Amino acid sequence: TLPKLPLLSALASHPPSKTAIIHNSSRKAFDYGSLLRDISRWRSVLGKLGSDATGKRIAIMGENSYQFLVCLLAATSIPGTIAVPLCPSHTAPEITYQLKDSDCCAVVTTNRFKEKLAALVDGRDFVIYEDVELPPSEAVTIAKDPSDADESSGIILYTSGTSGNPKGVVITNSTLHAQASSLIKAWEIAPGDTILHTLPLHHIHGILNALLVPLFVGATVVFQFPFAAGPVLSLLAHDDASAPDITVYTAVPTVYARLSTVYRSLPPDRQASITDAIPKSLHLAMCGSAALPDPLRDGWAQLSGGHPQLLERYGMTEVGMALSQPLKESERASGSVGKPLPGVYARLVDKDSLEVLYQAVGWQSEEWIAEKPQGDDEQLLGEIELSGPTIFQTYWRKPDATASSFVTDASGRKWFKTGDIAGVDSAGRWWIKGRESMDIIKSGGEKLSALEIEREILSLDGIAECAVVGLPSVEWGQAVATVVVMQSDVEPITFDNLKAELKKRLTGYKIPKELKVVQQIPRNQMGKVNKKTLVKQVWPEKF
Ligand code: ATP
Ligand code: MG
Repeated sequence: TLPKLPLLSALASHPPSKTAIIHNSSRKAFDYGSLLRDISRWRSVLGKLGSDATGKRIAIMGENSYQFLVCLLAATSIPGTIAVPLCPSHTAPEITYQLKDSDCCAVVTTNRFKEKLAALVDGRDFVIYEDVELPPSEAVTIAKDPSDADESSGIILYTSGTSGNPKGVVITNSTLHAQASSLIKAWEIAPGDTILHTLPLHHIHGILNALLVPLFVGATVVFQFPFAAGPVLSLLAHDDASAPDITVYTAVPTVYARLSTVYRSLPPDRQASITDAIPKSLHLAMCGSAALPDPLRDGWAQLSGGHPQLLERYGMTEVGMALSQPLKESERASGSVGKPLPGVYARLVDKDSLEVLYQAVGWQSEEWIAEKPQGDDEQLLGEIELSGPTIFQTYWRKPDATASSFVTDASGRKWFKTGDIAGVDSAGRWWIKGRESMDIIKSGGEKLSALEIEREILSLDGIAECAVVGLPSVEWGQAVATVVVMQSDVEPITFDNLKAELKKRLTGYKIPKELKVVQQIPRNQMGKVNKKTLVKQVWPEKF
């Protein structure tokens, strides 16, 4: 008998013969019946690990596979147990840090990563999927009584480490449930959907949006691991009649960039066949985890022939997803991340006065506290603060970081300070300006959004990538500077050219005062740039 957890009860309510997971490379399929049985068998294996009776963490590293999923859900179904998914491409120091920090008693993995992990296990229980003799599979039932596992078990996900050391975020089963319910409602994910999954599984986007959400509703998840543009385009183009028809795809901006680059390199007839085929089954394509610059959105529009448009949403490890464009394409404002999702409390707070300017409860209410902006161009600006059942409660063993991340309002409600700055327009739509700590440049008394300047630089001919940063400056406080990577075989842009082109698009004080052309901008697993590290590499003399 498995405990009565929302996800397990949902799995048990789907038809047992319905396909839950497909491995695209082998086309192997696993149904909901086996999923539930295997969770129950692995639960008894994992339950015996470590010495503590309750209160333990189990690290899991695997390919994106059925097996990984089984272990993840088995671990989170044990009262007091927290699963810690690890990233296969992380380096030894990164893995060691996460194993120590999360205080894991065991590491579960597959033969493929056995060698990589063997040296890092450091006395912990070490389980290889393939070596385990499982107990016989029995019919599985879900306990009738509510289990106490809900709040004591779940997962720890590490933040992407874009702005500093990754922090462990505790996401309990009940928080995951609240997050999934909100997305199912907003994006109308249904049992008939087939979601293409190419994201890492140590991150909220890959765990929640692309995996748990479809499993909650009884849809099918197709794992393509590792991500490669070829197989993804092939699936979307319906090349192989025996392959599943993908209806939903969700990815990060760098993935859409890769798809566009490969698409553009294809002969015109192949491009046409992809573009014709995409809207035949795909009805929802989503993007998030980092800002989506216009050229990437346009690249996808070209690839898909205009439908489905990319739906942009905003989320973070600590909160799941918080803001999303509406499902209806005609109601989306390009460049905005839409409004709070169902059940999400969001407010905009002035960074200097700490006054609340605007607040909204997703799909329920909105309230202007400061004067409502006028017309299309005006926006209120402030930090995004979030509250409600979808928000995490604690960083793992970081009481100080936890305490300083929340503020309590007069009614006793706790708000999480995201550190992200946004604008809210007169229609109540949110526009992400970037992180206060890295993307908001304070220059000559103005606060500038690096993301807005990056968007313009990226739309210039020949530019492949860019990162806009603030450099310390006696004259300006911070001076706007940009690092760019040119497209292959393109001559480096000159500083004069850059300035001349940008003058047509941006007001004077937003134009960079320095340019560095580099071969590569280092990015983390989620395709994000750590600007604090980047500036030290590119301008060591200034830091
Ligand atoms: P760390 O917290 O360790 O610095 P991280 O913040 O990058 O890493 P995540 O939780 O993966 O870790 O990312 C959340 C952040 O990603 C948000 O706070 C926001 O800055 C950014 N982000 C997410 N979605 C969007 C979006 N649609 N547009 C712009 N930025 C986004
Ligand atoms: Mg963060």
